[in-house]
Amino acid sequence: MYNALYGGEVKRKILIVDDEDINRELLGNMLIDDYDIAYAENGKEAIDCIKNSDEKISLILLDLMMPVMDGFEFIKAYNEDQDLSSIPVIVMTSDTESEAEIIKAGAVDFIKKPYNMPEVIIARCERVIELYEKQQIIESTQIDELTGLYSKEYFYEYIRQMRTSGFVEDVTMDAISLDIEHFHLINEIYGHEEGDFVLKKIADIIRNQIQDRIGIACRAEADTFYIYTDSISDYQAFLDNIMKEIDDIAFSSGNIRLRMGINESIDDGETPQSIFEHARLACNLIRGDYVNQIGFYDSNLHDEQIYNEKLITDIDQAIRDKDFVVHFQPKYSIQHGEPMLTSAEALVRWNHPTLGMISPGKFIPLFESNGLIQKLDEYVWETAAYQVSRWKDKYGITIPVSVNVSRIDIYNPDLEDTLVGIVERYGLKTSELYLEITESAYSDDAELLVKVVNSLRDKGFEIEMDDFGTGYSSLNMLTAIPIDALKMDMSFVRNMLKDDTSLKLVELIIDISRFLDVPVIAEGVEEQEQLDTLKELGCDIIQGYYFSKPVSAKEFEEFIKA
Ligand code: C2E
Ligand code: CA
Ligand code: CA
Repeated sequence: MYNALYGGEVKRKILIVDDEDINRELLGNMLIDDYDIAYAENGKEAIDCIKNSDEKISLILLDLMMPVMDGFEFIKAYNEDQDLSSIPVIVMTSDTESEAEIIKAGAVDFIKKPYNMPEVIIARCERVIELYEKQQIIESTQIDELTGLYSKEYFYEYIRQMRTSGFVEDVTMDAISLDIEHFHLINEIYGHEEGDFVLKKIADIIRNQIQDRIGIACRAEADTFYIYTDSISDYQAFLDNIMKEIDDIAFSSGNIRLRMGINESIDDGETPQSIFEHARLACNLIRGDYVNQIGFYDSNLHDEQIYNEKLITDIDQAIRDKDFVVHFQPKYSIQHGEPMLTSAEALVRWNHPTLGMISPGKFIPLFESNGLIQKLDEYVWETAAYQVSRWKDKYGITIPVSVNVSRIDIYNPDLEDTLVGIVERYGLKTSELYLEITESAYSDDAELLVKVVNSLRDKGFEIEMDDFGTGYSSLNMLTAIPIDALKMDMSFVRNMLKDDTSLKLVELIIDISRFLDVPVIAEGVEEQEQLDTLKELGCDIIQGYYFSKPVSAKEFEEFIKA
């Protein structure tokens, strides 16, 4: 018999418990070809045998009338002991009265004495063993061991049963996918034990939250939980409740942020798998979003998924065909007289043969989520380095270009070698390529970031901290990381003439840059008034539509000539 629990063809062991030698021998001989056999003369010996056996016992054949401890007493002890009660018992009896009684007490089946039909006995033993093992497999997959929630497969099965039984017929049901933001970091930084602890606690909280609802939950994967529940009218309140319970528990892993994707009012025709894939998609789409913690699925998302899959499939071909175009946006220094071109930022676009021009906002986050960004970034860095060297040859001056280094690139152990290799290939100095690293990369792994930035800087690269003001770096973090420029996030510039807080923040950021003794760059400057204000506040460098949109390398030459 093949069985997944045992991983193949194994001879099972049967324990025969009977005080009469002749009965033990008779039964033993019938079964010995197919099974290993152990013998006991009474209930007490049987218990000892089970407890001391190294091998698992798959079935007990139990006589009722025995000295020392009879079959009834054995069954009593058996029911109270988990080790014992996981083994099926077949009772051997000649007395029909006690059969009903003993089956009620816990045996699965009985065999009539005398033993005159060996095939029937063998078949019964085989069937009972098989049934029990199957049941064990089912049980072992029903429950996720760590959290005690259902396993995903069982969860789906449960939903099917709830539906077919008509239990949720008149109820509007929602599907929720819940993720822990940056869970892998909790594991990496605080260890797997802490990670497990967090998962268990969150499972408890989920259980708490749904106990008064029509709802079930499972752990679908590592840090992803699924909840099937009657419709919740206020999801923000629901999430707030969960977050509040989380805050009440002290995790050494600090702040835990959840992300929730919701597929509302699901229709009965959709399979449980697809219902939750959609909830999960909604959840994935807000990954890394520091504002929205809740995402709702709508069928347009499905189109987006198909679109994204196409982008993933097409990336390699696009790199080979040079469909990724690198544009350049000039940066001007504004503090000394007339604005002066100082450098440029390389920004990638995708000129897709069938989908047309695609902006990086559509594919960068996607490629960051699956690691493909490394390939693309390398291509952009190389293209930028090539341009710098061409302009150098053509105009005899260096226009340093800053390239974006994704937070994902920070994890690449070859990052430095790759960058140095590119620069050398085009005969440039490392100081002619600037690297823009987003401030929010801090929250991924501050220690690693400091290490990587330090070593890149030692090689001579200039580091600009991008999107400054949106991340969470504190002043002492900033002093720990040596940077060469701060790029103020665009949102401050956009709002600074509209609200006072933004203006104050712009001032604060400029103060911080003074404190760190690095220039500050403002991007997203579109209007004269913004430029004037920034200049007055002491901002050093400006990038934005006011001067130019990102343009092709060829168009950019006009700025160099000017
Ligand atoms: P970012 O690094 O913050 O780049 C600045 C974005 O602001 C660019 O958007 C730029 O076109 C836009 N911008 C510049 N001036 C103005 C302005 O005056 N007004 C407005 N409204 N927008 C302005 P873009 O090119 O769409 O790039 C978006 C983001 O995609 C970039 O944000 C960057 O995070 C990422 N990205 C672009 N190229 C690359 C790349 O090669 N590698 C990586 N890893 N990320 C890239
Ligand atoms: Ca940038
Ligand atoms: Ca930026």
